[in-house]
Amino acid sequence: MMHAQDTNNKAINDSAASFDVVVVGGGMVGSVLALGLGQQGFKVLLLEKQAVTTDWHASLPLQPRVSALTRASENILRNLGAWGGIEARRCHAFGAMHVWDEASVGQVHFSAADVGEANLGHVVENDVVQAALWEQLKGCEYVHIALNQALESLEFKDDQAWLTLDGLGKVVTPLIVGADGAFSKVRALAHIGLDTHDYQQCAVVGCVKTELSHQDTCWQRYQAAGPFAYLAMGNNMSSIAWYLPTHKMAWALSLSDEELARNIEIASDHRLGKVLEVGQRIAFALVRRHALHYVKPNLALVGDAAHTIHPQAGQGVNLGLLDAAVLLDVIVEAKAHGKSWGNFAVLRQYERARRGDNALVQRSMEGFDWLFNQQSALKTRLLNGFLPLANRLLPVKKWLMMQALNGRDGVPRLAKPFIFNNLGDASTRVKATSCNKFDI
Ligand SMILES: Cc1cc2nc3c(=O)[nH]c(=O)nc-3n(C[C@H](O)[C@H](O)[C@H](O)COP(=O)(O)OP(=O)(O)OC[C@H]3O[C@@H](n4cnc5c(N)ncnc54)[C@H](O)[C@@H]3O)c2cc1C
Repeated sequence: MMHAQDTNNKAINDSAASFDVVVVGGGMVGSVLALGLGQQGFKVLLLEKQAVTTDWHASLPLQPRVSALTRASENILRNLGAWGGIEARRCHAFGAMHVWDEASVGQVHFSAADVGEANLGHVVENDVVQAALWEQLKGCEYVHIALNQALESLEFKDDQAWLTLDGLGKVVTPLIVGADGAFSKVRALAHIGLDTHDYQQCAVVGCVKTELSHQDTCWQRYQAAGPFAYLAMGNNMSSIAWYLPTHKMAWALSLSDEELARNIEIASDHRLGKVLEVGQRIAFALVRRHALHYVKPNLALVGDAAHTIHPQAGQGVNLGLLDAAVLLDVIVEAKAHGKSWGNFAVLRQYERARRGDNALVQRSMEGFDWLFNQQSALKTRLLNGFLPLANRLLPVKKWLMMQALNGRDGVPRLAKPFIFNNLGDASTRVKATSCNKFDI
Protein backbone atom coordinates (compact mmCIF):
# COMPACT_ATOMS: atom_id res chain seq x y z
CA MET A 1 0.00 0.00 0.00
CA MET A 2 1.17 3.46 -0.79
CA HIS A 3 2.44 5.45 2.14
CA ALA A 4 0.61 8.76 2.27
CA GLN A 5 3.76 10.73 2.86
CA ASP A 6 5.12 9.33 -0.41
CA THR A 7 1.95 9.83 -2.31
CA ASN A 8 2.50 11.90 -5.38
CA ASN A 9 -0.63 13.81 -6.06
CA LYS A 10 -0.01 13.94 -9.76
CA ALA A 11 0.67 10.24 -9.96
CA ILE A 12 -2.81 9.50 -8.68
CA ASN A 13 -4.88 12.03 -10.48
CA ASP A 14 -3.93 15.32 -12.00
CA SER A 15 -7.00 17.06 -10.66
CA ALA A 16 -7.16 15.65 -7.13
CA ALA A 17 -5.50 17.38 -4.18
CA SER A 18 -3.91 14.94 -1.76
CA PHE A 19 -3.89 15.05 2.07
CA ASP A 20 -2.61 12.65 4.72
CA VAL A 21 -5.93 12.94 6.56
CA VAL A 22 -9.19 14.75 5.79
CA VAL A 23 -11.22 15.65 8.88
CA VAL A 24 -14.85 16.56 8.17
CA GLY A 25 -16.27 18.75 10.96
CA GLY A 26 -14.36 21.34 12.96
CA GLY A 27 -16.36 21.10 16.18
CA MET A 28 -14.48 20.49 19.43
CA VAL A 29 -13.61 16.88 18.54
CA GLY A 30 -12.66 17.38 14.89
CA SER A 31 -10.57 20.44 15.80
CA VAL A 32 -8.64 18.49 18.44
CA LEU A 33 -7.87 15.70 15.99
CA ALA A 34 -6.88 18.05 13.15
CA LEU A 35 -4.66 20.08 15.47
CA GLY A 36 -3.04 17.00 17.02
CA LEU A 37 -2.28 15.59 13.56
CA GLY A 38 -1.04 18.94 12.26
CA GLN A 39 1.29 19.30 15.24
CA GLN A 40 2.72 15.87 14.39
CA GLY A 41 3.46 16.98 10.83
CA PHE A 42 0.53 15.34 9.03
CA LYS A 43 -0.90 17.33 6.15
CA VAL A 44 -4.53 17.72 7.12
CA LEU A 45 -7.56 19.13 5.35
CA LEU A 46 -10.21 20.27 7.83
CA LEU A 47 -13.64 20.81 6.32
CA GLU A 48 -16.14 22.86 8.32
CA LYS A 49 -19.65 23.85 7.36
CA GLN A 50 -19.78 27.12 9.24
CA ALA A 51 -17.37 29.91 10.12
CA VAL A 52 -15.89 29.75 13.63
CA THR A 53 -14.90 33.00 15.24
CA THR A 54 -11.82 33.30 17.41
CA ASP A 55 -12.83 36.86 18.20
CA TRP A 56 -14.10 36.93 21.74
CA HIS A 57 -14.88 39.66 24.25
CA ALA A 58 -15.32 39.29 27.99
CA SER A 59 -18.44 41.42 27.66
CA LEU A 60 -20.22 38.68 25.67
CA PRO A 61 -23.05 37.12 27.69
CA LEU A 62 -22.54 33.52 28.85
CA GLN A 63 -23.50 31.18 26.02
CA PRO A 64 -26.18 28.52 26.61
CA ARG A 65 -24.05 25.57 25.42
CA VAL A 66 -21.41 24.59 27.94
CA SER A 67 -19.44 21.44 28.74
CA ALA A 68 -18.13 20.10 32.02
CA LEU A 69 -14.60 19.09 31.01
CA THR A 70 -12.76 16.33 32.84
CA ARG A 71 -9.05 16.39 33.72
CA ALA A 72 -8.36 14.10 30.74
CA SER A 73 -9.99 16.67 28.42
CA GLU A 74 -8.10 19.50 30.11
CA ASN A 75 -4.84 17.59 29.55
CA ILE A 76 -5.69 17.08 25.88
CA LEU A 77 -6.36 20.79 25.42
CA ARG A 78 -3.26 21.75 27.44
CA ASN A 79 -1.01 19.42 25.46
CA LEU A 80 -2.29 20.97 22.23
CA GLY A 81 -1.57 24.47 23.53
CA ALA A 82 -5.24 25.47 23.59
CA TRP A 83 -5.86 25.57 27.35
CA GLY A 84 -4.24 29.01 27.71
CA GLY A 85 -6.74 30.39 25.19
CA ILE A 86 -9.59 28.94 27.26
CA GLU A 87 -8.30 30.39 30.53
CA ALA A 88 -7.66 33.74 28.86
CA ARG A 89 -11.29 33.80 27.76
CA ARG A 90 -13.58 32.26 30.39
CA CYS A 91 -13.91 28.99 32.30
CA HIS A 92 -14.87 27.97 35.81
CA ALA A 93 -13.27 25.28 37.97
CA PHE A 94 -15.68 23.37 40.21
CA GLY A 95 -14.51 21.82 43.43
CA ALA A 96 -17.50 19.67 44.37
CA MET A 97 -20.51 17.86 43.07
CA HIS A 98 -23.66 17.27 45.06
CA VAL A 99 -26.29 14.70 44.02
CA TRP A 100 -29.63 14.09 45.67
CA ASP A 101 -33.08 12.70 44.88
CA GLU A 102 -36.43 14.32 45.45
CA ALA A 103 -37.91 11.17 46.95
CA SER A 104 -35.20 10.18 49.40
CA VAL A 105 -33.38 11.73 52.31
CA GLY A 106 -29.94 10.58 51.16
CA GLN A 107 -27.42 12.66 49.22
CA VAL A 108 -23.90 12.16 47.89
CA HIS A 109 -21.25 14.85 48.02
CA PHE A 110 -18.10 14.51 45.92
CA SER A 111 -15.30 16.87 46.79
CA ALA A 112 -11.97 17.57 45.08
CA ALA A 113 -10.35 17.80 48.53
CA ASP A 114 -11.22 14.11 49.16
CA VAL A 115 -8.98 13.07 46.26
CA GLY A 116 -6.30 15.70 46.85
CA GLU A 117 -7.15 17.53 43.62
CA ALA A 118 -7.53 21.26 43.09
CA ASN A 119 -10.87 20.77 41.34
CA LEU A 120 -13.14 18.15 39.79
CA GLY A 121 -13.14 19.76 36.33
CA HIS A 122 -14.08 22.95 34.52
CA VAL A 123 -17.32 24.25 33.11
CA VAL A 124 -16.54 25.95 29.80
CA GLU A 125 -18.71 27.46 27.08
CA ASN A 126 -18.43 25.36 23.91
CA ASP A 127 -17.74 28.53 21.89
CA VAL A 128 -14.76 29.27 24.13
CA VAL A 129 -13.24 25.80 23.62
CA GLN A 130 -13.85 26.12 19.91
CA ALA A 131 -12.30 29.61 19.68
CA ALA A 132 -9.18 28.51 21.59
CA LEU A 133 -8.74 25.50 19.31
CA TRP A 134 -9.24 27.49 16.13
CA GLU A 135 -6.72 30.05 17.30
CA GLN A 136 -4.16 27.22 17.37
CA LEU A 137 -5.40 25.71 14.12
CA LYS A 138 -5.05 28.97 12.26
CA GLY A 139 -1.39 29.07 13.26
CA CYS A 140 -0.63 25.49 12.26
CA GLU A 141 0.92 25.31 8.82
CA TYR A 142 0.05 21.66 8.30
CA VAL A 143 -3.70 22.15 8.71
CA HIS A 144 -5.58 23.53 5.74
CA ILE A 145 -9.02 24.78 6.61
CA ALA A 146 -11.81 24.87 4.05
CA LEU A 147 -15.10 26.45 5.04
CA ASN A 148 -18.51 25.82 3.54
CA GLN A 149 -17.49 22.97 1.29
CA ALA A 150 -20.42 20.61 0.88
CA LEU A 151 -19.25 17.02 0.68
CA GLU A 152 -21.01 15.72 -2.40
CA SER A 153 -19.68 12.22 -2.79
CA LEU A 154 -17.34 9.74 -1.16
CA GLU A 155 -15.83 6.69 -2.86
CA PHE A 156 -13.21 4.19 -1.85
CA LYS A 157 -10.76 2.79 -4.42
CA ASP A 158 -7.03 2.01 -4.66
CA ASP A 159 -6.75 2.05 -0.85
CA GLN A 160 -7.76 5.69 -0.76
CA ALA A 161 -10.88 7.71 -0.01
CA TRP A 162 -11.95 10.02 -2.83
CA LEU A 163 -14.10 13.00 -1.94
CA THR A 164 -15.89 15.44 -4.17
CA LEU A 165 -16.42 18.89 -2.67
CA ASP A 166 -18.73 21.35 -4.34
CA GLY A 167 -16.20 24.20 -4.44
CA LEU A 168 -12.83 22.45 -4.43
CA GLY A 169 -13.42 19.46 -6.65
CA LYS A 170 -11.70 16.12 -5.98
CA VAL A 171 -9.62 15.35 -2.92
CA VAL A 172 -7.85 12.06 -2.21
CA THR A 173 -6.61 10.77 1.14
CA PRO A 174 -5.72 7.48 2.82
CA LEU A 175 -8.01 8.46 5.71
CA ILE A 176 -11.22 10.45 5.97
CA VAL A 177 -12.49 11.10 9.50
CA GLY A 178 -16.14 11.91 10.15
CA ALA A 179 -16.22 14.40 13.05
CA ASP A 180 -19.37 15.99 11.69
CA GLY A 181 -21.68 15.46 14.64
CA ALA A 182 -24.80 13.46 15.38
CA PHE A 183 -26.22 13.76 11.85
CA SER A 184 -22.92 12.85 10.20
CA LYS A 185 -22.92 13.01 6.42
CA VAL A 186 -19.70 10.99 6.32
CA ARG A 187 -21.40 8.21 8.28
CA ALA A 188 -24.35 8.28 5.88
CA LEU A 189 -22.16 8.34 2.73
CA ALA A 190 -20.20 5.37 4.11
CA HIS A 191 -23.47 3.49 4.74
CA ILE A 192 -22.71 2.92 8.41
CA GLY A 193 -25.87 2.10 10.36
CA LEU A 194 -26.89 3.39 13.78
CA ASP A 195 -28.24 1.81 16.92
CA THR A 196 -30.61 4.42 18.38
CA HIS A 197 -32.73 4.86 21.47
CA ASP A 198 -35.04 7.80 22.06
CA TYR A 199 -34.74 8.84 25.71
CA GLN A 200 -38.08 10.63 25.33
CA GLN A 201 -36.53 13.46 27.23
CA CYS A 202 -35.30 16.88 26.23
CA ALA A 203 -32.73 19.12 27.87
CA VAL A 204 -33.37 22.82 28.32
CA VAL A 205 -30.06 24.66 28.77
CA GLY A 206 -29.04 28.24 29.44
CA CYS A 207 -27.29 30.39 32.04
CA VAL A 208 -28.94 31.94 35.09
CA LYS A 209 -28.01 34.21 37.97
CA THR A 210 -29.05 33.00 41.40
CA GLU A 211 -29.57 34.65 44.75
CA LEU A 212 -27.19 32.28 46.57
CA SER A 213 -23.65 31.32 45.63
CA HIS A 214 -23.17 27.98 43.88
CA GLN A 215 -20.13 27.48 46.13
CA ASP A 216 -18.12 26.28 43.11
CA THR A 217 -20.29 23.17 43.18
CA CYS A 218 -22.29 21.38 40.51
CA TRP A 219 -25.69 20.43 41.90
CA GLN A 220 -27.79 17.60 40.45
CA ARG A 221 -31.24 16.71 41.68
CA TYR A 222 -33.11 13.62 40.49
CA GLN A 223 -36.86 13.78 40.17
CA ALA A 224 -39.59 11.81 38.46
CA ALA A 225 -39.69 14.03 35.34
CA GLY A 226 -35.91 13.89 34.87
CA PRO A 227 -32.81 15.35 36.53
CA PHE A 228 -32.09 19.04 37.06
CA ALA A 229 -28.53 20.40 37.24
CA TYR A 230 -26.81 23.66 38.12
CA LEU A 231 -23.25 23.82 36.75
CA ALA A 232 -21.10 26.45 38.47
CA MET A 233 -20.02 29.29 36.17
CA GLY A 234 -19.08 32.85 37.23
CA ASN A 235 -20.12 34.86 40.25
CA ASN A 236 -23.53 33.46 41.27
CA MET A 237 -23.93 32.40 37.65
CA SER A 238 -24.75 28.80 36.78
CA SER A 239 -25.53 26.93 33.64
CA ILE A 240 -28.72 24.88 33.97
CA ALA A 241 -29.63 21.54 32.42
CA TRP A 242 -33.32 20.90 32.98
CA TYR A 243 -34.51 17.51 31.73
CA LEU A 244 -38.16 17.10 30.83
CA PRO A 245 -40.34 14.72 28.84
CA THR A 246 -39.95 15.66 25.15
CA HIS A 247 -43.59 16.72 24.83
CA LYS A 248 -42.85 19.55 27.28
CA MET A 249 -40.07 21.07 25.17
CA ALA A 250 -42.27 23.61 23.33
CA TRP A 251 -43.89 24.58 26.63
CA ALA A 252 -40.52 25.12 28.34
CA LEU A 253 -39.27 27.29 25.48
CA SER A 254 -42.45 29.38 25.51
CA LEU A 255 -42.13 30.34 29.20
CA SER A 256 -41.44 33.99 29.99
CA ASP A 257 -38.15 34.66 31.85
CA GLU A 258 -40.15 35.12 35.04
CA GLU A 259 -42.01 31.82 34.62
CA LEU A 260 -38.82 29.97 33.72
CA ALA A 261 -37.11 31.36 36.83
CA ARG A 262 -39.93 30.08 39.09
CA ASN A 263 -39.84 26.64 37.41
CA ILE A 264 -36.08 26.39 37.89
CA GLU A 265 -36.43 27.25 41.57
CA ILE A 266 -38.93 24.40 41.97
CA ALA A 267 -36.93 21.89 39.91
CA SER A 268 -33.81 22.66 41.98
CA ASP A 269 -35.71 22.56 45.25
CA HIS A 270 -34.67 26.22 45.80
CA ARG A 271 -31.11 25.04 46.41
CA LEU A 272 -29.56 28.31 45.20
CA GLY A 273 -32.41 30.52 46.36
CA LYS A 274 -34.23 32.77 43.90
CA VAL A 275 -33.35 32.82 40.21
CA LEU A 276 -32.69 36.50 39.54
CA GLU A 277 -31.88 36.51 35.81
CA VAL A 278 -32.18 34.03 32.96
CA GLY A 279 -30.18 34.22 29.73
CA GLN A 280 -30.82 32.77 26.30
CA ARG A 281 -32.18 29.22 26.49
CA ILE A 282 -32.21 26.41 23.97
CA ALA A 283 -33.49 22.85 24.06
CA PHE A 284 -32.46 19.50 22.58
CA ALA A 285 -34.36 16.26 22.16
CA LEU A 286 -32.15 13.53 23.61
CA VAL A 287 -31.35 10.43 21.61
CA ARG A 288 -28.71 7.77 22.21
CA ARG A 289 -26.95 6.91 18.97
CA HIS A 290 -24.19 4.41 18.44
CA ALA A 291 -22.65 3.80 15.02
CA LEU A 292 -22.58 0.09 14.24
CA HIS A 293 -18.97 0.51 13.12
CA TYR A 294 -16.49 3.25 13.94
CA VAL A 295 -14.15 2.32 11.09
CA LYS A 296 -14.00 1.00 7.56
CA PRO A 297 -10.95 0.82 5.34
CA ASN A 298 -9.79 4.47 4.90
CA LEU A 299 -12.50 5.85 7.20
CA ALA A 300 -13.06 6.52 10.91
CA LEU A 301 -15.82 8.21 12.91
CA VAL A 302 -15.16 10.19 16.10
CA GLY A 303 -17.21 12.13 18.66
CA ASP A 304 -20.93 12.61 18.13
CA ALA A 305 -20.64 11.15 14.61
CA ALA A 306 -19.86 7.84 16.35
CA HIS A 307 -21.98 8.16 19.51
CA THR A 308 -24.35 10.45 21.38
CA ILE A 309 -25.20 9.94 25.01
CA HIS A 310 -27.60 11.30 27.62
CA PRO A 311 -25.84 14.46 28.83
CA GLN A 312 -26.80 14.10 32.52
CA ALA A 313 -23.25 13.06 33.47
CA GLY A 314 -21.65 15.57 31.08
CA GLN A 315 -19.59 12.96 29.25
CA GLY A 316 -20.34 13.49 25.52
CA VAL A 317 -17.49 15.71 24.45
CA ASN A 318 -15.14 14.16 27.00
CA LEU A 319 -15.64 10.79 25.31
CA GLY A 320 -15.25 12.40 21.89
CA LEU A 321 -11.94 14.02 22.85
CA LEU A 322 -10.68 10.63 24.04
CA ASP A 323 -11.71 9.17 20.65
CA ALA A 324 -9.64 11.85 18.92
CA ALA A 325 -6.65 11.28 21.23
CA VAL A 326 -6.72 7.48 20.74
CA LEU A 327 -7.08 7.80 16.96
CA LEU A 328 -4.15 10.20 16.94
CA ASP A 329 -2.01 7.64 18.81
CA VAL A 330 -2.98 4.91 16.35
CA ILE A 331 -2.18 7.07 13.30
CA VAL A 332 1.16 8.28 14.71
CA GLU A 333 2.11 4.71 15.63
CA ALA A 334 1.22 3.43 12.16
CA LYS A 335 3.37 6.11 10.56
CA ALA A 336 6.28 5.29 12.87
CA HIS A 337 6.09 1.64 11.72
CA GLY A 338 5.80 2.53 8.04
CA LYS A 339 2.19 1.39 7.81
CA SER A 340 -0.68 3.19 6.13
CA TRP A 341 -2.97 4.74 8.73
CA GLY A 342 -5.94 4.11 6.42
CA ASN A 343 -5.43 0.37 6.72
CA PHE A 344 -8.43 -1.40 8.24
CA ALA A 345 -6.37 -3.44 10.73
CA VAL A 346 -4.71 -0.24 11.94
CA LEU A 347 -8.03 1.57 12.34
CA ARG A 348 -9.56 -1.39 14.15
CA GLN A 349 -7.13 -0.71 17.01
CA TYR A 350 -8.91 2.60 17.49
CA GLU A 351 -12.36 1.02 17.35
CA ARG A 352 -11.39 -1.71 19.81
CA ALA A 353 -10.00 0.84 22.25
CA ARG A 354 -13.02 3.15 22.19
CA ARG A 355 -16.27 1.40 21.25
CA GLY A 356 -16.62 -0.71 24.41
CA ASP A 357 -15.73 2.22 26.65
CA ASN A 358 -18.29 4.50 24.99
CA ALA A 359 -20.97 1.77 25.10
CA LEU A 360 -20.31 1.23 28.81
CA VAL A 361 -20.79 4.92 29.60
CA GLN A 362 -23.94 5.07 27.44
CA ARG A 363 -25.46 2.08 29.22
CA SER A 364 -24.53 3.25 32.69
CA MET A 365 -26.39 6.50 32.03
CA GLU A 366 -29.46 4.47 31.23
CA GLY A 367 -29.14 2.35 34.35
CA PHE A 368 -28.82 5.48 36.42
CA ASP A 369 -31.82 7.07 34.76
CA TRP A 370 -33.87 3.89 35.20
CA LEU A 371 -33.10 3.76 38.92
CA PHE A 372 -34.01 7.37 39.55
CA ASN A 373 -37.13 7.18 37.37
CA GLN A 374 -38.67 4.33 39.31
CA GLN A 375 -41.63 5.62 41.23
CA SER A 376 -41.92 2.87 43.75
CA ALA A 377 -41.52 2.56 47.47
CA LEU A 378 -38.72 0.08 46.77
CA LYS A 379 -36.72 2.74 44.92
CA THR A 380 -37.16 5.18 47.80
CA ARG A 381 -36.05 2.53 50.28
CA LEU A 382 -33.07 1.65 48.06
CA LEU A 383 -31.99 5.26 47.68
CA ASN A 384 -32.59 6.03 51.35
CA GLY A 385 -30.20 3.21 52.12
CA PHE A 386 -27.82 3.56 49.19
CA LEU A 387 -27.14 7.31 49.02
CA PRO A 388 -26.06 7.76 52.66
CA LEU A 389 -23.98 4.58 52.39
CA ALA A 390 -22.38 5.74 49.13
CA ASN A 391 -21.68 9.07 50.77
CA ARG A 392 -19.81 7.37 53.61
CA LEU A 393 -17.82 4.97 51.41
CA LEU A 394 -14.86 7.26 50.79
CA PRO A 395 -12.75 4.73 48.81
CA VAL A 396 -15.69 4.10 46.44
CA LYS A 397 -16.31 7.82 46.07
CA LYS A 398 -12.62 8.43 45.44
CA TRP A 399 -12.55 5.73 42.77
CA LEU A 400 -15.66 7.16 41.08
CA MET A 401 -14.20 10.66 41.12
CA MET A 402 -10.87 9.57 39.66
CA GLN A 403 -12.67 7.62 36.91
CA ALA A 404 -14.82 10.63 36.10
CA LEU A 405 -11.84 12.98 36.14
CA ASN A 406 -9.32 10.95 34.16
CA GLY A 407 -11.35 8.42 32.19
CA ARG A 408 -10.80 4.70 32.44
CA ASP A 409 -7.62 2.66 31.85
CA GLY A 410 -5.46 2.97 28.75
CA VAL A 411 -5.31 6.76 28.71
CA PRO A 412 -4.02 7.98 25.32
CA ARG A 413 -0.81 9.99 25.22
CA LEU A 414 -2.50 13.32 24.60
CA ALA A 415 -4.74 12.90 27.67
CA LYS A 416 -1.80 12.41 30.03
CA PRO A 417 -0.46 15.28 32.07
CA PHE A 418 2.85 16.80 31.00
CA ILE A 419 3.09 14.90 27.74
CA PHE A 420 6.23 16.75 26.80
CA ASN A 421 8.03 15.41 29.86
CA ASN A 422 7.53 11.98 28.30
CA LEU A 423 8.08 12.90 24.68
CA GLY A 424 10.76 15.47 25.02
CA ASP A 425 10.46 19.21 24.93
CA ALA A 426 7.56 20.94 23.24
CA SER A 427 10.08 22.32 20.74
CA THR A 428 10.40 18.82 19.24
CA ARG A 429 6.80 19.12 18.04
CA VAL A 430 6.14 20.55 14.66
CA LYS A 431 5.91 24.23 15.41
CA ALA A 432 2.67 26.03 14.81
CA THR A 433 3.91 28.70 12.47
CA SER A 434 2.84 31.34 10.07
CA CYS A 435 0.31 29.59 7.93
CA ASN A 436 -3.26 30.71 8.07
CA LYS A 437 -4.89 28.91 5.21
CA PHE A 438 -8.58 28.88 4.59
CA ASP A 439 -8.50 26.99 1.34
CA ILE A 440 -6.43 24.39 -0.38
C1 LIG B 1 -27.85 19.64 26.50
C2 LIG B 1 -26.47 19.07 26.31
C3 LIG B 1 -25.52 19.23 27.30
C4 LIG B 1 -24.26 18.68 27.14
N1 LIG B 1 -23.34 18.80 28.15
C5 LIG B 1 -22.14 18.21 28.02
C6 LIG B 1 -21.16 18.28 29.06
O1 LIG B 1 -21.36 18.91 30.11
N2 LIG B 1 -19.98 17.63 28.90
C7 LIG B 1 -19.73 16.91 27.77
O2 LIG B 1 -18.66 16.28 27.68
N3 LIG B 1 -20.61 16.84 26.75
C8 LIG B 1 -21.81 17.46 26.85
N4 LIG B 1 -22.70 17.38 25.83
C9 LIG B 1 -22.35 16.68 24.60
C10 LIG B 1 -21.45 17.52 23.70
O3 LIG B 1 -22.03 18.80 23.49
C11 LIG B 1 -21.22 16.82 22.37
O4 LIG B 1 -20.83 15.50 22.62
C12 LIG B 1 -20.13 17.53 21.58
O5 LIG B 1 -20.49 18.85 21.25
C13 LIG B 1 -19.82 16.77 20.29
O6 LIG B 1 -18.76 17.38 19.64
P1 LIG B 1 -18.41 16.97 18.14
O7 LIG B 1 -17.27 17.83 17.74
O8 LIG B 1 -18.29 15.49 18.03
O9 LIG B 1 -19.73 17.31 17.31
P2 LIG B 1 -20.40 18.73 17.03
O10 LIG B 1 -20.24 19.64 18.17
O11 LIG B 1 -21.79 18.44 16.57
O12 LIG B 1 -19.54 19.32 15.84
C14 LIG B 1 -19.70 18.88 14.52
C15 LIG B 1 -19.12 19.93 13.59
O13 LIG B 1 -19.19 19.44 12.24
C16 LIG B 1 -19.71 20.45 11.39
N5 LIG B 1 -20.37 19.76 10.29
C17 LIG B 1 -21.53 19.08 10.31
N6 LIG B 1 -21.78 18.55 9.08
C18 LIG B 1 -20.75 18.92 8.28
C19 LIG B 1 -20.44 18.69 6.91
N7 LIG B 1 -21.21 17.94 6.11
N8 LIG B 1 -19.30 19.24 6.40
C20 LIG B 1 -18.48 19.98 7.19
N9 LIG B 1 -18.73 20.23 8.50
C21 LIG B 1 -19.85 19.69 9.04
C22 LIG B 1 -20.64 21.27 12.27
O14 LIG B 1 -20.81 22.59 11.78
C23 LIG B 1 -19.88 21.24 13.61
O15 LIG B 1 -18.96 22.30 13.71
C24 LIG B 1 -23.96 17.94 25.96
C25 LIG B 1 -24.91 17.81 24.93
C26 LIG B 1 -26.16 18.38 25.11
C27 LIG B 1 -27.18 18.20 24.00
